[in-house]
Amino acid sequence: MSKSNSQELRDAIRDAGLRATPARVATLELLHRAASPLTHADVAEHLAEKGIDKATAFRNLNDMTDSGLLRRTELGDHVWRFEPIGEGEHEHTAHPHFVCVDCGSVSCLSEIKLTEKSLRTSRQVGEVTEILLRGFCKSCA
Ligand SMILES: [Zn+2]
Ligand SMILES: [Zn+2]
Repeated sequence: MSKSNSQELRDAIRDAGLRATPARVATLELLHRAASPLTHADVAEHLAEKGIDKATAFRNLNDMTDSGLLRRTELGDHVWRFEPIGEGEHEHTAHPHFVCVDCGSVSCLSEIKLTEKSLRTSRQVGEVTEILLRGFCKSCA
């Protein structure tokens, strides 16, 4: 499901209508490898090792989000996090995330989905943009 080879990553970036610059390929590769969504700061820190400056890292994250390659998510702590939009996923129907109330760590719950019936029920309330589960992670429990 996750794209690991850099040719595939370059193709995905071009398919989204962007130039496949080394910085964008490195960004997408990093996010595909990560087990959870990463913040601007996380991404900038990793890319700095490859000589990519902070401003470029930030701009690429925003460009790639606007082009539909990445999803930007806010999990109640006012910090934007980024992750690749998986195959078969849509921009606005992300998988749920688990946030630890103690250490703040974030995990993807890719296998948990609302049923069709739950989706219909939730639409009576409004449009769901984020499903958030909170609790204590394994290291904090
Ligand atoms: Zn924790
Ligand atoms: Zn996720």
